Amino acid sequence: MANFRFDAVQKANAKEPIEATAPSNLTSEYYGCNVFNRAAMRQYLDEDTRRAIYETVEKGVTLDKSIADHVAAGMKRWALDMGATHYTHWFQPLTGGTAEKHDSFADPRGKDESIEKFSGKLLCQQAPDASSCPSGGLRNTFEARGYTAWDPSSPAFIIGDTLCVPTVFISYTGEALDYKTPLLKSDVAVCKATTDLLALMGMPNEVAHSYLGWEQEYFLVDKDLYSLRPDLVLTERTLIGHVSSKNQQLDDHYFGSIPARVMEFMKDLEFECYKLGIPAKTRHNEVAPGQFELAPVYEAANLANDHNLLLMSVMRSVAAKHGFAVLLHEKPFAGVNGSGKHCNWSIGTESGIGLMSPGKTDRENLRFLCFMANTLKAVYDNNGLLKASVMTASNSHRLGANEAPPAIISSFLGTQVHEAFEELLKSKDMVKIAGKKGYSLGIPQVPELMVDNTDRNRTSSFAFTGNRFEFRAVGSSANCSGPITILNTILANQLNIFRAAVEKRIEAGSEPMRAILDETRETYRACKDICFDGNGYSDEWRAEAKTRGLDCESSVPLCMDEFTSEKTVALFKNVGVLSEVELESRKDVYLEIYCKKLSIEARTLSDLVTNHIIPVAITYQNILLENVKNLKEIYGASAFKKMAISQMDLIECISADIAAAESEIDTLDALIDSISAEDRDAAIIYHDKVVPMLDEIRKHVDSLEMLVDDQMWPLPKYRELLFIH
Ligand code: ADP
Ligand code: MG
Repeated sequence: MANFRFDAVQKANAKEPIEATAPSNLTSEYYGCNVFNRAAMRQYLDEDTRRAIYETVEKGVTLDKSIADHVAAGMKRWALDMGATHYTHWFQPLTGGTAEKHDSFADPRGKDESIEKFSGKLLCQQAPDASSCPSGGLRNTFEARGYTAWDPSSPAFIIGDTLCVPTVFISYTGEALDYKTPLLKSDVAVCKATTDLLALMGMPNEVAHSYLGWEQEYFLVDKDLYSLRPDLVLTERTLIGHVSSKNQQLDDHYFGSIPARVMEFMKDLEFECYKLGIPAKTRHNEVAPGQFELAPVYEAANLANDHNLLLMSVMRSVAAKHGFAVLLHEKPFAGVNGSGKHCNWSIGTESGIGLMSPGKTDRENLRFLCFMANTLKAVYDNNGLLKASVMTASNSHRLGANEAPPAIISSFLGTQVHEAFEELLKSKDMVKIAGKKGYSLGIPQVPELMVDNTDRNRTSSFAFTGNRFEFRAVGSSANCSGPITILNTILANQLNIFRAAVEKRIEAGSEPMRAILDETRETYRACKDICFDGNGYSDEWRAEAKTRGLDCESSVPLCMDEFTSEKTVALFKNVGVLSEVELESRKDVYLEIYCKKLSIEARTLSDLVTNHIIPVAITYQNILLENVKNLKEIYGASAFKKMAISQMDLIECISADIAAAESEIDTLDALIDSISAEDRDAAIIYHDKVVPMLDEIRKHVDSLEMLVDDQMWPLPKYRELLFIH
């Protein structure tokens, strides 16, 4: 019998790098060439139209309908000049990916005539029949219509022959059905709350925004090996597989050089990024073998997030060209690190002031401490909700595993900021914040090192890193809008509470800056329990976190309750980001997705064990039995026993694993068949019963992998999947 696995391994190992296609090392020559950016607008739009668009993007002014026709006309000419034939509204349903429905520019009229049509109306609004996108009951099928509406703050772009227009996706009655709508609303809310507070600080004309710099981790696996693993193809993670004897113990991958095949993939990926105006900046190996990272320069949160979604889909096609499959799952392999997507988040003004950056004067530093204290208070008060925003079926495998942040939110500030706050608690007046320290190495030819005033604690889930917070619990496959919307919303709400308290102090006779200082001190005092600078991966921290009242729930379905708690509903209503109905529908969708993912995993594992593993184990067992029989026949009943000890042992072990796996699969199948809903109760069954069963069955299969002849094992093994040659 042919073993496809050996053929695939041989083929994978023999593959040569496919040379990347970037025409030049000067990215400036093609950066943003597939984007309807300012350069393209200058060529295709008149000055008034351009000004209107810029105002919309920068100041959030609503775009006049009559302008939309002008924009559409220019955009169409640009797209046709670029070779496009179709256009689509590009949106972000709650499934986590992106969705699009292509329409042709062609507008056939009469017998032999067709024109290219694209109007302001088509640019601004579409009504895709997206009844199969999840809506959590917000859209009944008889009223299946959802609307997509143009988001002018994210520029249109071309992929292949299609003009893609970034849009929000809402129901017939105006409820958000996507990730983009609440992100935009939360940005407006935090921007307004920030502007109001800055006005109190004597800075009345600032416009604020939220910013995001994501770091995308991913695995690459050879396509031929990937195709032989139904679990990877259907669930993006290995449901079975014995760990490789060498994985990441030597820490040699992180600092190692990038394999040549992967390097060409990365170059091509960056080329595609640059054409789309995605500001890719760093690339490197990650800790696990086969794991890598790409990070761009940060941008306004909405644009940064569109770019991340775009990257995730571009990655898949570029990888295919290089004979790879990309795994964005948070934990594709047991026993090695999972993948996250650290979200670097900050609030800043359009004039360039980072509100989470320490300054030079007392006034600037008070502003800094004020925004820090408010952020910490917001996260402290809503730590369960923030965690819920990153809790998914796939990310729950990573959170709490030994290399990733635990399923508890805490914040690390670094020594300087921590000391400044502690000082503030004791003092009545403004405190000093230590600046960068010079550090001489004592080697004459090496200049003095400037050491950052934030040290690093890699185990913290929400760490301050100098001018921003880095939220590390976000999963690699996530749409960052989920957590960023929560961060913006809870900060907006907290800033409003803070401002009201400061105004009260002022009314009572306090001078404004004194009132801000005093309120900052009290805000920090009330939330300092969120700060933790020890080892966030340790068991002691889990125990300690409980005593501090932090949310330690690790069951995904139970975490989802946070979305509809009284506190969350009131908070989202106060700042106008999501209504109660919208929050409820989101929770329903998340629970539904959780159930679906686990049901697919269970069915995939059941098929794998029944059709792939057990037949091979039985075949091998028969070979052993034949051997024992032959030994007995040739050497006689008394001599054979000694000779066949290990074979008989093996046969028994194999039998035990087969029997256990088979009976557990039967129980699993029956359980899955008995679950008829995809609601909270069903999700709890999946979490409490199905997940442990998957782990239990895996143990027997992984044991069989070690017992059965390597020549016969049908699925590529960890050692073959993880190392790229
Ligand atoms: P590290 O791996 O050390 O955390 P990276 O360079 O991989 O750092 O990623 C840091 C990310 O943080 C980048 O996307 C960077 O642009 C972003 N970033 C830097 N400053 C800010 C800021 N003020 N607000 C948001 N993101 C920021
Ligand atoms: Mg980082």
